[in-house]
Amino acid sequence: MVTTEPAPEFDLSGGDLCLDFINTLADRTGTPRESLTAYADLLEFARQAGRMPEPEVGELAAEAAADPAGASRVMVRAVRTREAMYRVFGAIARGEEPEDADLEALNAVLVEGLAKARLVRQDGSYRWSWAGDCSCLERPLWQVAHSAADLLASGRLDRVRVCDSATCEWLFLDESRNRSRRWCDMATCGNRAKARRHYERQKTALQVRESG
Ligand SMILES: [Zn+2]
Repeated sequence: MVTTEPAPEFDLSGGDLCLDFINTLADRTGTPRESLTAYADLLEFARQAGRMPEPEVGELAAEAAADPAGASRVMVRAVRTREAMYRVFGAIARGEEPEDADLEALNAVLVEGLAKARLVRQDGSYRWSWAGDCSCLERPLWQVAHSAADLLASGRLDRVRVCDSATCEWLFLDESRNRSRRWCDMATCGNRAKARRHYERQKTALQVRESG
């Protein structure tokens, strides 16, 4: 019997498509959890992020089924590009200079995507699109590279933050009024940090009492 893995549910709280894409690997310095394990996950990410309408997802899924080797090549590139993007934005969040090689890796995907991009009119405004005659499996990857380029050139880089948790490493845009957001998600990392501080305070209090 063939069982299909259920599609992962992506966390889209990063505030920008490229940051949500980077966050598809969770708990990087702890016990990493990978959400992108097959080409279908890449399509599912684009669909859940609202960047790919259902017919386009279906079209690329059929394309991937017809060319499994091509689909796995794109997957490998997607993960490699994601890691380069993580290092670029992670460095920025820490006030450091990204490595040229990582920026170059992003540029390579960006340039390739731009050659296939077009502007389409939708509801009175314009947006980038990669749909059309090209049935390229790279489409979801080009979307995130474009989003990364947009964010890098946006003048909003001072809002890029890395989660304060010791292991999470998720990135997000801090849109809070006084720029005080510290965790990717208060309900997970924020509460974990609070519980740890509480535990450490109790432990110290106990040690003080024992030694006194
Ligand atoms: Zn976190």
